[in-house]
Amino acid sequence: MEQNILNISYHPFELLFRYPFRIAHGERTFTPVVFVEIAHNGLLGYGEAALPPYLAETTKTVGSFLESSKPLLKKLNDNFSLEELELFLINLNEAFPGNKSAKAALEMALLDLWGKKNNLSLKKIFNPHSLPDVFSTFTIGICGPEEMKLKISGANEFSIFKIKLNGISDKKNIELFLNISERMKSNRKVSFCVDVNQGWKDKFLAMDMVHWLSEKGAFLIEQPLPVKMLDESAYLTERSPIPVIADESVQGLEDIEKVKGAFSGINIKLMKTGGLYIAKKMISRARELEMKILIGCMSESSCGVTAAAHLSPLADWADLDGPYLIKNDPFEGVKIKDGKIWLPDEPGMGVKKN
Ligand code: MG
Repeated sequence: MEQNILNISYHPFELLFRYPFRIAHGERTFTPVVFVEIAHNGLLGYGEAALPPYLAETTKTVGSFLESSKPLLKKLNDNFSLEELELFLINLNEAFPGNKSAKAALEMALLDLWGKKNNLSLKKIFNPHSLPDVFSTFTIGICGPEEMKLKISGANEFSIFKIKLNGISDKKNIELFLNISERMKSNRKVSFCVDVNQGWKDKFLAMDMVHWLSEKGAFLIEQPLPVKMLDESAYLTERSPIPVIADESVQGLEDIEKVKGAFSGINIKLMKTGGLYIAKKMISRARELEMKILIGCMSESSCGVTAAAHLSPLADWADLDGPYLIKNDPFEGVKIKDGKIWLPDEPGMGVKKN
């Protein structure tokens, strides 16, 4: 019957940054996203595809993918089980390679709908043993002293920071961050990590920098060298006093084996993995290889970030500050309190539209 069909709809949206976002890749003021909704019997499942410009997907490719996936979606039993959902996702992956952000959005919406139908939070599906909450970093893009002051003072919920570096004035920027934050946090030692976004090009300079950063209190470093400098990354990781985490170097499950030995851990984002199920497989594989896990996000609203947050208890660290960096979040969901991630308990993802 018509009313029993899973009804999919989607619309593009622009998430506006509170401050222009500057990293080693460049600067931008907004991020295009596509929100997905799947309706059934009065219930709505929500999903989000984030599309930063350095990824290949666009609002157009997400739209085409969702249109192409409709025949497969029609075959999915409207009262699908989680096993049927997994099978559907496997078929979808085989039929349409790539399209990872779009797949993540579709999977999110189906999982959210499943949770609402079955009165179960995603927290219980992905984290059944109630592991402890983890801390999330708050990202500070490359900026001057005035903007940095505003950013730190506006991040009251957070106690750890991720400082973006780009190979230009890095030491000066870290000193500036430490000066401002220690003054603002009543001289309390501030905990921070750094993300270079491939911005360093020389392994010896990188070596000097990781030692210097460690002395300054950095607890990890993300993607210091370009993806193609894998041997140099291995050289650095072997000698680094702090964990070196792969972000751009790991785009999916197939990349984990390639970076084993070259990095201490991996940054997992749903927009890179294509959804929560593959992300969970990546976490298991990385653990088998004794690698650390950072669960991160692109610039996403509370919709996508809440989905990722349900995996955060399985990670060592989280970088789930997306909603705190934008000024027009259409959703409400996961929150940061006293630096830690607080997951909603409501059925499904636990997000509400604002
Ligand atoms: Mg990164």
